Amino acid sequence: MAENKRVELGFGCMRMPTLKPDDPTSFDYEKIEALFDEFLSQGFTYFDTAYTYHGYHAEEAVRHALVERHPRQSFRLATKLPLRDFKDSEDLERIFQEQLDSCGVEYFDSYLLHNMGTNVYEKCRKYGVFEFAAGKKAQGKIRSVGMSFHDMPELLEEILSQYGDKLDFIQLQINYMDWEQPNVQSRRCLEIARSYGKPVTVMEPCKGGTLVNLPEEAEKLLKETEPDSSNASWAMRFAGSQEGVTMVLSGMNSMEQVLDNTATFKNFRPVTQEEMGIIDKVTGIIEKNTPIPCTACGYCTHGCPKDIAIPQYFALYNSISRTTGSFSSQAVYYRNTALNHGKASDCINCGQCEKACPQHLPIREYLKQVAAKFEG
Ligand code: SF4
Ligand code: SF4
Repeated sequence: MAENKRVELGFGCMRMPTLKPDDPTSFDYEKIEALFDEFLSQGFTYFDTAYTYHGYHAEEAVRHALVERHPRQSFRLATKLPLRDFKDSEDLERIFQEQLDSCGVEYFDSYLLHNMGTNVYEKCRKYGVFEFAAGKKAQGKIRSVGMSFHDMPELLEEILSQYGDKLDFIQLQINYMDWEQPNVQSRRCLEIARSYGKPVTVMEPCKGGTLVNLPEEAEKLLKETEPDSSNASWAMRFAGSQEGVTMVLSGMNSMEQVLDNTATFKNFRPVTQEEMGIIDKVTGIIEKNTPIPCTACGYCTHGCPKDIAIPQYFALYNSISRTTGSFSSQAVYYRNTALNHGKASDCINCGQCEKACPQHLPIREYLKQVAAKFEG
């Protein structure tokens, strides 16, 4: 752990407040603007969005709530090239221009190749994606080129050995649950990025809320150690304490979260060895209580022919696994959600969702377990 390290907090615009829980484009601008304004007033300036977030409308929402309301120099904006969506080299140009227009800016402070992995790497090489981004940087349309990465360390090593000169930073999923997880390998990926001298931005520091809504036993342990610290602050401090990490993103959607996170980073305290021991124990408790390690990113749902509410069903399954007693509100939620979406048992086994899942989860297998639990 680095002592007295400087690490920034970034505002992740992936889960902004909406008016209707089932409609990711029904932006609650009053709330979003209040959150953005507070974040800026606390001295933070970095906002991270993407072409695909919020049903492909997040960039417009960021323009309304941020770009059109604040001077360009007062914030930094990052967005991402959708690697699964572009068709060819010409399409890259079209999408990039569309993104500038949607965001209402002349340049991006950071521009990332979104969700790089085995399934898109060859396509990126074929159509010159790395060169495209470097070219836009040379034209002054991008200040800094990055790559968000959700795959195995071997691929990261390969990409950095081939295209490291075109990448200024790497965005990695780092949190205390995934540190040694075989399907994420946060620690190993961070070590590789560091060995190439690339600063790292952290995404999913709270693992999609998993490290905020902790099992009772884990929460008790943290509260006994630090009664006034939130569960989120432990997760944020773990991510920000790692050597090579310069930024931690948080997808904040309430004022309480903005105030808590900004307080954590204003007076950043790296985790101590003793605290690491507590975190290890908490990790063990969560593992015991979270059968499906889904981050609720929603990438799996876009191409599902049955419109199955995969992340919602997984969250309900995890939640019911922690519940004791006969009445289960999760079953009620399941039935209500299934009124507007496919049920878990409607899955036709096409496998599209698993190709899109950055966590490499066996979604079809898990859906069978969900169906057995809620539809049996
Ligand atoms: S495998 Fe099932 S859940 Fe996945 S995309 Fe196909 S139908 Fe949807
Ligand atoms: S199953 Fe995978 S892709 Fe779908 S929400 Fe969970 S982590 Fe994301």
